[in-house]
Amino acid sequence: MAEFCKSEECPASDDLLAFQLGDIGPIDGGYIRRHLANCDFCTAEVEFYENYPPASENEAPPAAAPIPQPLFELAEAILTRRASDPLFDDLIEDDRY
Ligand SMILES: [Zn+2]
Repeated sequence: MAEFCKSEECPASDDLLAFQLGDIGPIDGGYIRRHLANCDFCTAEVEFYENYPPASENEAPPAAAPIPQPLFELAEAILTRRASDPLFDDLIEDDRY
């Protein structure tokens, strides 16, 4: 009977997490699937990741997120707006009040 602890045969936690996320190749995935069949500890670890997924390091930071198209168009409109634009003049006048 396998002990309820990590053994030398156990995949790394990163591999278990990748397996849980489906982010692992079929060869490693098959190996881990077989390992989980007779390792209660790793099974529990995968179930833990399922319930409490760690913050993904692969997730793009907010700064790298693409600018929403409407916001991009608004910024472009502001940047390219001519001072002679009547609407722009109105905005400037409004600011003076
Ligand atoms: Zn294991």
